[in-house]
Amino acid sequence: SIVRKNTPMDTDREVERALRPLSFGDFTGQDKVLNNLKVFVEAARQRTEPLDHTLLHGPPGLGKTTLSHILANEMNAGIKTTTGPVLDKPGDLAGLLTNLQPNDVLFIDEIHRLNPIVEEYLYSAMEDFKIDIMLDSGPNARSLQIQISPFTLVGATTRAGLLTAPLRARFGINARLEYYDAELLCTILQRSSGLLKTPIEPEAAMELASRSRGTPRIANNLLRRTRDFAQILGDGTITMDIARRALKALEVDSNGLDDMDNRILKTIIEKFKGGPVGISTIATACGEEAETIVEMYEPFLIQEGYIKRTFRGREATEKAYHHLKIPVYLSEAA
Ligand code: ATP
Repeated sequence: SIVRKNTPMDTDREVERALRPLSFGDFTGQDKVLNNLKVFVEAARQRTEPLDHTLLHGPPGLGKTTLSHILANEMNAGIKTTTGPVLDKPGDLAGLLTNLQPNDVLFIDEIHRLNPIVEEYLYSAMEDFKIDIMLDSGPNARSLQIQISPFTLVGATTRAGLLTAPLRARFGINARLEYYDAELLCTILQRSSGLLKTPIEPEAAMELASRSRGTPRIANNLLRRTRDFAQILGDGTITMDIARRALKALEVDSNGLDDMDNRILKTIIEKFKGGPVGISTIATACGEEAETIVEMYEPFLIQEGYIKRTFRGREATEKAYHHLKIPVYLSEAA
């Protein structure tokens, strides 16, 4: 047999799993979404029905997978997980659906990438908890209807705009996750460092939080890497000094922006004099799809005040010029 070595990748994944909140009470932030979900879960439980099908959307790393597990836990139900592109044939879906217990959660990540034929099968499963399977083909073709347990489909996507209308219409609950502010990320980091038994000074936690692009996954990654520096360069405690040295060594942008964020700002400023410029023009210049920019990058840049969305297009703000250390007098507006 193959002996699996405990590679750093595995350990990181195990740590990520260990940090994952398991109940509503463990989950920080997203108050609006959470308060609604608590009501829907409680109401479904009182009726001993499955929770309505739930669509979770928003940028990567904000907790969609985490929330789907929490929903199953809070429903006292099981969960089966898969991703859109993996469900190649209707048989793959049928296999998953027929194995569900009553009120279980079926979590499909990247649900916008379902094969259209598989998606068709999902419709009747979601609506009537039935699937029709074709047996044979040609003149002998018959269809066999299989009853499945009442279940909850939880779909996750970063690209809600790409969902087909019939699929979207079958979700009774639709929740959009937002970026976290630095205070919330700081709370998450403090919880995580407790679980990792790594002491962290409050100001160091705040420093990591404000460089994490509003994203818990990035915050937890930074924490794990900074913990390594604390262990090797210090006494294991994450002090402000250790945090600064780690962030410098990891080349984390001073405001937590990633490469694409910076490329978008640079493009608007250097190629289009700060804008206004249309999103498709920016996308072409950055070599990225317009929809990806709109759904994954722009919301954070707007929230943090680096760009403004106007009816004439996107404009870089003074904050973007300062961030890139480009004098503002070069802008169109100046
Ligand atoms: P993707 O769609 O890219 O998989 P996601 O939105 O499903 O991303 P998760 O995998 O759920 O993101 O979360 C990423 C990590 O961030 C998890 O390990 C989890 O521990 C942590 N996390 C996410 N949201 C929270 C939260 N609200 N509180 C504490 N930790 C969180």
